Amino acid sequence: RGKRAFIAGVADDNGYGWAIAKALAAAGAEILVGTWVPALNIFETSLRRGKFDESRKLPDGSLMDIVKVYPLDAVYDCPEDVPEDVKLNKRYAGSSNWTVKEVAETVKNDFGSIDILVHSLANGPEVTKPLLETSRRGYLAAISASSYSYVSLLQHFLPIMNPGGASISLTYIASERAIPGYGGGMSSAKAALESDTRVLAFEAGRKGKIRVNTISAGPLGSRAAKAIGFIEKMIEYSYVNAPLQKELLADEVGNTAAFLVSPLASAITGSTVYVDNGLNTMGLAV
Ligand code: NAD
Repeated sequence: RGKRAFIAGVADDNGYGWAIAKALAAAGAEILVGTWVPALNIFETSLRRGKFDESRKLPDGSLMDIVKVYPLDAVYDCPEDVPEDVKLNKRYAGSSNWTVKEVAETVKNDFGSIDILVHSLANGPEVTKPLLETSRRGYLAAISASSYSYVSLLQHFLPIMNPGGASISLTYIASERAIPGYGGGMSSAKAALESDTRVLAFEAGRKGKIRVNTISAGPLGSRAAKAIGFIEKMIEYSYVNAPLQKELLADEVGNTAAFLVSPLASAITGSTVYVDNGLNTMGLAV
């Protein structure tokens, strides 16, 4: 039987989530995605109208099949957590069962189990503000959407993950080196995500024989990255300073993800794996 993957954080064909979905599909996995509720409508419409057909093309010429798109808001664990104004919001009221617990239950009812869980989402409402100017609310929102969302997803999906399965998330070097511009507590959120990767690897390894790793990716001009405002500068900086002077392709992160969740990586867990043209190894900009 082929493997089944749930990829949280796909809402267009530009980001790392999409590239990971494609790499897993190319390796024969069945693809389920979780899409942020406010982005669901346009994503499903675009899919249906064939807007992504060109980028759905796999190396063998076939088109990636997304078996099912689940609405998801990973800052809410269960219906009791959802505030009234969100419940009544038109975009949210139009979908149902989008809290983490409900999505895991729905996937279980639909398919029984999964083998691969991917977390490719982040959000920091104050990301453009320096940490010194970040509010408590903004900081906690960044941690909630970008770090706890992963704890919650793994917590709820682990019971339906087949032993031998694997999970990955996406992180960024701002967790361990100061990157001016990556503010709002997002650097803190990535530091938490990397630390949690080690603890969750232990716990999920012992509890469910599941491996947990995170990919520290270089800069990519995704929708989320464009919202930060300095992504073009970071891409240029990387091009000039990294050991490998080439564009970083989302597919290169996708391929690493496919490796990390495959049996080829059967002894790798708790690791932060850099896919950044080597930029993290440099100590001096040249
Ligand atoms: P992206 O826009 O493709 O992905 C982010 C996704 O998160 C979007 O689809 C968005 O709808 C979703 N999302 C936001 N809040 C959510 C919520 N509460 N519940 C569910 N989904 C939610 O952008 P991306 O850059 O590919 O981001 C994917 C991951 O890669 C993130 O963790 C990001 O921090 C990480 N990353 C990105 C870069 C980069 O330069 N783009 C570098 C390193 C790491």
